[in-house]
Amino acid sequence: MSRARGTQIGNGVSRDVRQRVYGTPVDGVTASPSLASRLDAWGWRVDGVCTDAADDGAAWFAQDGSLASRAARRACRSCPVQRVCLASALWFGEEYGIWGGTTPEQREAMTTRLLRGESLDGVVRWGIDEDRDATA
Ligand code: SF4
Repeated sequence: MSRARGTQIGNGVSRDVRQRVYGTPVDGVTASPSLASRLDAWGWRVDGVCTDAADDGAAWFAQDGSLASRAARRACRSCPVQRVCLASALWFGEEYGIWGGTTPEQREAMTTRLLRGESLDGVVRWGIDEDRDATA
């Protein structure tokens, strides 16, 4: 496990994923200064492919494994803000939907790594690589 040097972000109350509350950032997460600053400035959201989706983003919350959900995940893989989107979902503990191309189940495995002290940057990189390998 690697602990990257970086900025500690978050003021959440719990580091236990099972006690996480939606919208409460994980406390003590380490992120690189560039990622931390992108998370602080929410402007990245307007660049997301899903913001222009014809279905208003419904596919991103469709049942896991459905055609719509799989299409949403494919769209995420070509989204210019995929990494910061996934980082945000992990930091805020998004429980539902596709974020950064990942399912809630995939994010649970990533969150476990995050809570063990890996940097947010490293966990995001690992998660995207794992997903790419699984779908190759
Ligand atoms: S990565 Fe996916 S969920 Fe995130 S902004 Fe892009 S299209 Fe939307």
